Amino acid sequence: MQTTVDFKTLAVTGVQALQPYQPGKPIEELERELGISNILKLASNENPLGASPKAQAALATALKSLELYPDGSGYQLKAAIADKFGLQSVQITLGNGSNDVLDIIARAFLDNSRAAVFSEYAFAVYPIVIQAVGAELQPAKANPSTHDTMPYGHNLVNLAEKITDKTRVVFIANPNNPTGTWLGKEELHSFLSRVPEDVIVVIDEAYTEYVTDPTFPNALAWLAEFPNLIVTRTFSKIYGLAGLRVGYAASNPAIADMLNRVRQPFNVNSLALAAAQAALGDDDFLERSVATNAAGLQQWFAACAENGWEYIPTAGNFITINMQRPAAPLYEALLREGVIVRPIGGYGLPQHLRITVGTEAQNTRCINALQKVLTA
Ligand SMILES: *Cc1c(COP(=O)(O)O)cnc(C)c1O
Repeated sequence: MQTTVDFKTLAVTGVQALQPYQPGKPIEELERELGISNILKLASNENPLGASPKAQAALATALKSLELYPDGSGYQLKAAIADKFGLQSVQITLGNGSNDVLDIIARAFLDNSRAAVFSEYAFAVYPIVIQAVGAELQPAKANPSTHDTMPYGHNLVNLAEKITDKTRVVFIANPNNPTGTWLGKEELHSFLSRVPEDVIVVIDEAYTEYVTDPTFPNALAWLAEFPNLIVTRTFSKIYGLAGLRVGYAASNPAIADMLNRVRQPFNVNSLALAAAQAALGDDDFLERSVATNAAGLQQWFAACAENGWEYIPTAGNFITINMQRPAAPLYEALLREGVIVRPIGGYGLPQHLRITVGTEAQNTRCINALQKVLTA
């Protein structure tokens, strides 16, 4: 449309500098572009087993009341979350996906006089929510690619050094996406003890349910000890409800009170509320999802060893492989094989591909396709 107005100059300063989030390519888009079917999407860390059957059953019931506004307080879902994790409902803030919660945190605690710390190679949504409210970005260097145990992982010394008087929030993903790397219990606990109490630490545990190591930190257990801690979790990953958009934050009640002031009154829809509550209690589905992912990771580790593919250590439901050459053409070639993975050049890792762990058959198809495009 014709106009002489430069709308970019009208946008607030932080927004002018934003790089839009690049999501995984949708299956329908690739179908339209290439006219192919039988597409395998391993690009957005979705659950290959689908959604919890209990959630699907709850949806059928919830569908009968679409004319009603959802419960704006999310009373039942918050009670179910609190009950499952030994918390109180007043500690929970519900979001339209946990991305919404991250955005709410930024709007509640950041503005153009404040700053937020996060790691290089951390989840792309952190800089987006920080900049959108005009706050200053304080990115910390990650571990070097040559690090013995956790290459590309968050470096807590570097993160702590970035904290200044302006810092109000630190964002940490554990495990992190897109690297899969993680922080251990002692190092993370000791970091929390060192952070000033007026700096909020957000520990994003989107993938925590996939972690099988019993010594892995559970940040929810630290809420009583650290009043400045916010833990975020999601129903998008292991619970298989990415399409419904529901996640939550757990924090001390005073922080939750601030977050709930910013939250849109009906940010979580009635279908999402019902499905999330049912999924939360579906232990059988969770167990199967963990087992499928653990087996799938072993399959990928074996394939990487066989093919000489170097991967970043991962505790999530995805594996990030260094292709030792520009990954974008490989990504494009895989699309022509009907396999969608995730190039992560936008994260400063132009030679890596991030691949969601699927079922055994899906992994086999992706491994074969990768071998094919690498030798083409
Ligand atoms: C996928 C993901 C989320 C979840 O986002 P939703 O908005 O809940 O779908 C949050 N944090 C990280 C690090 C993720 O990878």
